[in-house]
Amino acid sequence: MACIIDGKELAKKIRTSLKKEVDELKEQNIFPKLAVIMVGDDPSSKIYVRNKSKACEEVGIEYEEYLLNDETTMEELVDLIDKLNNDDKIHGILVQSPIPKHLDINKAFRTISEKKDVDGFHPTNVGKLCLGQNTFVSCTPFGIMKILEEYNIEIEGKNAVVIGRSNIVGKPMLQCLMSKNATVTVCHSKTKNLPEIVKNADIVVAAIGKAKFVTEDMIKEGAVVIDVGINRGEDGKLCGDVDFENIVNKAGYITPVPGGVGPMTIAMLMNNIVKAAKEMYR
Ligand code: NDP
Repeated sequence: MACIIDGKELAKKIRTSLKKEVDELKEQNIFPKLAVIMVGDDPSSKIYVRNKSKACEEVGIEYEEYLLNDETTMEELVDLIDKLNNDDKIHGILVQSPIPKHLDINKAFRTISEKKDVDGFHPTNVGKLCLGQNTFVSCTPFGIMKILEEYNIEIEGKNAVVIGRSNIVGKPMLQCLMSKNATVTVCHSKTKNLPEIVKNADIVVAAIGKAKFVTEDMIKEGAVVIDVGINRGEDGKLCGDVDFENIVNKAGYITPVPGGVGPMTIAMLMNNIVKAAKEMYR
């Protein structure tokens, strides 16, 4: 049976250690603060935002929320981001996606100052990640790298397969794994022979958004299986992109959903806010 990775526990450990760092910053009169912008009232976003605010509270990071209505214009959104960019008391800014279709999410991401871009979505920070420079790493891939590190999972020379090529998960995941010397293959909806490719993987990262897409027959005995997906199964329960029940006996390591990658994503957001606060006064 696979080792079931406890992302919840690991995230808690990271938050505890970050809290100490935040307490030290406060002694120097630095009060790390996050500003979150939400446009519209997407129900999943509300849950994510609530989880982020709870994590901030636990770590001692100040938190400010801007709830904009569906009719907000791009100009209004850009004006708000500019105002927050120029506010010395704010160290991190994030725009919760999705936002209404008439707004340009990429423009929103690139309007956020790269120094406050705690989600790591600004083109400059994405470029720095590709070049192996100090940057804000997108929180989900960053959390997955932390899991691999904490569980002493060897990456160098391994075959890693990332399923999904989104800007926020798949692409930065490729960079992170490649920078640790894995041989990385990225699969997407146009990939041919996907099961054969995945079968060759020592490390599989599934970030597709389709319930139980990765099945037992695709997994090599002893592989490390990281499940990013958050879906509702036919039974209405939360499930990942991986068929956990049938893979758990074959994999070497596996992350559950919930309790795997999700909490680590938020812990790494906290990490990025503390980093932003420290770097602002350097
Ligand atoms: P996107 O929808 O942006 O990307 C999905 C990717 O999956 C695309 O690259 C798409 O390919 C690929 N894909 C879709 N169908 C197939 C298929 N049949 N075969 C192979 N590849 C396919 O999703 P995200 O990356 O934003 O998120 C993925 C999942 O992870 C979602 O469930 C999301 O909720 C979850 N998530 C979880 C987080 C966490 O903290 N746990 C954080 C972020 C996301 P193509 O590019 O060709 O369309």
